[in-house]
Amino acid sequence: MFKLVCGAGNEDTESVKRLVFVYASAGCKLFDLSARKEILEAAKEGGKLAGINDLQYCVSIGIKGDKHITKAKIKPSCIKCGNCLQNCPNDAVLSSIMINEKKCIGCGICMRKCPANAIYMEEKDVNYREILPYMVQNGVNFLELHIMGHDKEDLARKWKVINECNPKFASICIDRENFGNKEVLERIKEMISVREPYTTIIQADGVPMSGGSDDFKTTLQAVAMAEVIQNANLPVYIMMSGGTNSKTSELAKMCGINFWGIAIGSWARKIVKPYITSDDFWENKELQEKAIKIAKILIKSCE
Ligand code: SF4
Ligand code: SF4
Repeated sequence: MFKLVCGAGNEDTESVKRLVFVYASAGCKLFDLSARKEILEAAKEGGKLAGINDLQYCVSIGIKGDKHITKAKIKPSCIKCGNCLQNCPNDAVLSSIMINEKKCIGCGICMRKCPANAIYMEEKDVNYREILPYMVQNGVNFLELHIMGHDKEDLARKWKVINECNPKFASICIDRENFGNKEVLERIKEMISVREPYTTIIQADGVPMSGGSDDFKTTLQAVAMAEVIQNANLPVYIMMSGGTNSKTSELAKMCGINFWGIAIGSWARKIVKPYITSDDFWENKELQEKAIKIAKILIKSCE
């Protein structure tokens, strides 16, 4: 299963519509979206324009402290060097050195590139009690919780609401940046104890939002994280993410990982970006076909 990650924090409706159009046309059936009504509508519109009507959607929320629910903010101490503008993978920094919050996916690249320490990340949560039931009622089969934060009460609250919504699949997205293997597995075991076997997907996140290159090194941690989950012999499906690219499947197979799917965000968006950001995208069939061809090659590499 190939999952196109539009970005848990990506609230740019036009970009989501174009991404879904391209990847659905290329054969992708599952799309990861920000938990917003307008984003789900944009994704459905993209699928409709591609002429595909059996797409599946996964919406993501995060617990407090998880970077997937953060947005970049610029402090007055900015020296206008332009590094953030040049390095943002999602064009979320405007030329006036302002952040377009709808486009910011919280990757933190701008913060790491800022020489003046003038960028910080701020959490932006959603009203999950309202939005998650709405999503399930409107055809979303996968609800995903990003759990890399220290607030266990927030985790328990949000996981309870997800389970009360009774989605076909619940998904747990977890990486090892803040915790070691022991805590990661303890969290997962506790969470899946309330679910039927094989109704949970563990999204083994290598290095979140790091898939800027297409090589084995970039995807190494995603495969390593999947190995940790596999070794625990849990009744779950494993999906790799966080640094995933066209090499992920090959490396995972070499390492004997039985994965159910590969979720690709950064790399998948990057390779079609020159096409989908064009002003004449919807009128230019040649441009669309080029993007679809590139997307097909990536999807094929994940088999
Ligand atoms: S680099 Fe990442 S965190 Fe910074 S503005 Fe762009 S998307 Fe947001
Ligand atoms: S990288 Fe930092 S100092 Fe440079 S323009 Fe961006 S916020 Fe300002």
